[in-house]
Amino acid sequence: MMMLTKKMIEIRGLLQTVGQSDSLTLPSIVVIGSQSSGKSSVLEAIVGHEFLPKGHNMVTRRPIELTLVNTPDAQAEYGEFPALGLGKLTDFSQIQRTLTDLNLAVPASDCVSDDPIQLRIHSPNVPDLSLIDLPGYIQVVGRDQPPELKERISQLCDKYIRAPNVILAISAADVDLANSTALRASRKVDPRGERTIGVITKMDLVDPERAVSLLNDKKYALRLGYVGVVCRVPAGAGGGKLFHRGNGNIQSAIAKNENAYFNSHPEYAAEEQLDVGTRNLKKKLMHVLEHTMAASLKTTSEAIQRELAEATYEFKVQYNERPLSAESYLAESLDSFKHSFRGFTESFGRREVRELLKHELDQQVLNLLAQRYWNRPLDDLSPPFPETDPLSSLAKADPEGEDSIWRIKLDSSSAALTKLGVGRLATSVVANALQRNIEYLIANSRFAAHPFARQAITEASTAILKDLSYDISDELEICIKPYKYRIDLEDNEWAKGRENVTAVLKEELKVAESASKRLEEVMGGRKKVKDVMSFIDRVRSGQIILEGDGVGGAGGFSQALLSKGREAVFLRDRVDIIKLRILAVKSKQCATKTNKYHCPEVFLDAVADKLTTTADLFLDAELLSKFYYQLPRELDARLGRGLTQEEMDRFAREDPKIKRHLDVVRRKDLLEHVLKEMEGLRQLEAREKRAIGRR
Ligand code: GDP
Repeated sequence: MMMLTKKMIEIRGLLQTVGQSDSLTLPSIVVIGSQSSGKSSVLEAIVGHEFLPKGHNMVTRRPIELTLVNTPDAQAEYGEFPALGLGKLTDFSQIQRTLTDLNLAVPASDCVSDDPIQLRIHSPNVPDLSLIDLPGYIQVVGRDQPPELKERISQLCDKYIRAPNVILAISAADVDLANSTALRASRKVDPRGERTIGVITKMDLVDPERAVSLLNDKKYALRLGYVGVVCRVPAGAGGGKLFHRGNGNIQSAIAKNENAYFNSHPEYAAEEQLDVGTRNLKKKLMHVLEHTMAASLKTTSEAIQRELAEATYEFKVQYNERPLSAESYLAESLDSFKHSFRGFTESFGRREVRELLKHELDQQVLNLLAQRYWNRPLDDLSPPFPETDPLSSLAKADPEGEDSIWRIKLDSSSAALTKLGVGRLATSVVANALQRNIEYLIANSRFAAHPFARQAITEASTAILKDLSYDISDELEICIKPYKYRIDLEDNEWAKGRENVTAVLKEELKVAESASKRLEEVMGGRKKVKDVMSFIDRVRSGQIILEGDGVGGAGGFSQALLSKGREAVFLRDRVDIIKLRILAVKSKQCATKTNKYHCPEVFLDAVADKLTTTADLFLDAELLSKFYYQLPRELDARLGRGLTQEEMDRFAREDPKIKRHLDVVRRKDLLEHVLKEMEGLRQLEAREKRAIGRR
């Protein structure tokens, strides 16, 4: 019959993982008794180790669901807290400490908690049993204990002693049974004493006649009877003061002590019916538990079938029977992300890189022009700038060298462009664009709802890009090196530069004009702007001498308005000069490269174009293709094969919708599994019955 209990206890454990439902469980033995009745000593005698929290005022605050697993072929004895993941604890004093900590973690204001602590003990010396240790009843509330503690303990015990659980009611021999809190509580729920086992502890403390009469008690008759025990750990057997926290097995010491006691008193031997000793208690518990569990199999199995039907219905209606596991969810999400990534790689190639880079270099060219050519137009562009002849400023120069200042200007501007660190700039522009696109892909993927995966992908991508960029920017810098010394332009390159820069200037003109417009609105209209600007112009040309430093305003204008006015003047000048330069670039003067010193816009654009061509080719080959190759593999490593089952679960459950779906699938699978196990159990039971019949 032993196999049967083991199996049933296993099933009980499985049901515990299915979830809370009173009907969805198999019965267990619930241990109740008042404080100091010897409850802990009985449990420890059964387990063979001291492992329960002790100490003055130490109240068990949470139920302990104790599953004993008999391992006949193994030597090792160990405990496990499945919910804590501490692994196998072979040191029972560590189990004791853990239980103490778990108890102390319940806030005193809550008194007790009905959230049970799961503890499994594996040993060749324990029987297969499922026991629940409950807080001991207290008579008087201690000074430092909450007043409602007594009541709360009672309520908690009431919850557990309901049918079909077996009640193990512990009473001490030296206390009148009429005063036994455990028996009183059990009688309330089991008035006919059909599922209560009485345990009388401390038999050694009363004289044998009285002890025998307790065991034969008729006043509180229990169908399952009383068992008398002496469970005190004899001194020196691990329970003595010297070895109080010893780790040795105390079972044989207790048995010896107990046997010696009962054998030395002929009164016990005289009565054959008497049930005494821890050994007998264990046997009785196994026997009663097995029968009680077996009797519950049918109702439990019906309850499981009902729950399963519900879960199956939900699965069908809510989820269209779509199977799901954390693993498959992750794999699908990863596949779909990789698919969208592939789509992106097809849309982002050399052409896109080129556009990005050219745009970036266009901006650099504009900056250079503004710094070196357009900055103070009225000073630099001489002679005075007749609006009718937009070219006058530059055309007066002699292209063949008379005015070498233009030559130097252009050479140094071109050098500034080629030596600007194009390698690093271009690489980082493209790497940043790739990173931005990855972020965009994540935000539009299933991973959007998963912080863990988001971070993993972002990190994978930044790590690869960082790694590649380091060498690539150096190598690219080497590729463009020749341009730092000499730049030869073909006619067609000049023509292309002229066309392009015209567009760039027009775009820049638009930007400046719209900035001007916005400023006008902010400053309060065109007229206001004009007034402020003309004031500033007059100050600049020396027509007005400011008194003081002008802080706090001048000319009737506030400081803020003046500063906006200066911006407006700047933009106006900018618009003027760009307009002039567009005309210049479009003019015949700039049609060919012979006049290059006077057409710096065209020349610098052509240089930027050359740099771009080198960079886009190189970055396409080195950065893009390597990144496109490495990222999917890195994602596999970080989010695919690389994850443990727990990590996958955690990932999938981040999304509440997926969590609900997974829960239903898991519940259904578990219930199906339990039901199958139950079926196996029924067959086992039938076989054992037949075997007994044959004997
Ligand atoms: P609990 O509070 O109900 O868990 O009780 P304990 O198991 O801690 O026991 C209370 C006290 O009674 C302890 O000092 C034990 O040593 C003592 N005790 C337990 N069982 C026996 C026994 O069978 N005989 C004697 N003499 N003392 C016992």
